Amino acid sequence: MNQIILITGASSGIGAACAKYFAQAGAKLILAARRMGKLQQVVETLNIQASDVHLIQLDVRDRIAVESAISHLPPEWSHIDILVNNAGLSRGLDKLQEADFQDWEDMIDTNVKGLLYVTRNVLPGMVQRNKGHIINIGSIAGHQTYPGGNVYCATKAAVKSISEGLKLDLIGTQVRVTSVDPGMVETEFSNVRFHGDNQRADKVYQGLTPLTPDDIADVIFFCATRPPHVNINEVILMPVDQA
Ligand code: NDP
Repeated sequence: MNQIILITGASSGIGAACAKYFAQAGAKLILAARRMGKLQQVVETLNIQASDVHLIQLDVRDRIAVESAISHLPPEWSHIDILVNNAGLSRGLDKLQEADFQDWEDMIDTNVKGLLYVTRNVLPGMVQRNKGHIINIGSIAGHQTYPGGNVYCATKAAVKSISEGLKLDLIGTQVRVTSVDPGMVETEFSNVRFHGDNQRADKVYQGLTPLTPDDIADVIFFCATRPPHVNINEVILMPVDQA
């Protein structure tokens, strides 16, 4: 696979699994996240040459930093073929009337605005080259609202609308858009949601077998490797026992 893939949120979970799948196929990887140490740990697990991976310490909430990071990519890394917009998080499961304002800021700024900032900076190059693929990681939460899900579900409904709108905006080009929308996946996600409360995080997976990050990366890789005239618009994948 002679392509350059930018994966946001590559320091853990689904993003790290995507790095593995694309590295195995011989792609060149740009891996972005805030925790540089974790990104380096991910790279150590990959079967990849050092020259085939480029790390960026990036907070996707920072519009100026995103613009600078993408515009200052070394020339050999600047033609991004596939963008996996994966960076995202949930905070709390509180009723709206009791919720923490900062939790809302974190979710909206990361899941919606961060995804838009990265896309806005990567897309012009794809349109100019008339080639590329944007893969947005949405969620089943963008299709079904669950108790306490209010704002997180709204951010993922926004991702769904952005993916659909983007698809329309790109008609007439060869740039593809896919939304991959998982149910429960066992990652650091629940731990982040409950601000590091491991006991609460573990309870989330009781009584069902969650998806693994590899399950999602496998589907993302499949979507990315269809023939160029095929666009998979949306995939919803769920644990068998999740309603
Ligand atoms: P993880 O917590 O394991 O991974 C989240 C990744 O996002 C980390 O690499 C984190 O890196 C990165 N990230 C978070 N905030 C920022 C930021 N401001 N700037 C840059 N990177 C950031 O969770 P998952 O792998 O599960 O989550 C990946 C995506 O999948 C998210 O969009 C999530 O909403 C979605 N999803 C997850 C589900 C689940 O059940 N786990 C279900 C459905 C969708 P760092 O902290 O180093 O910046």
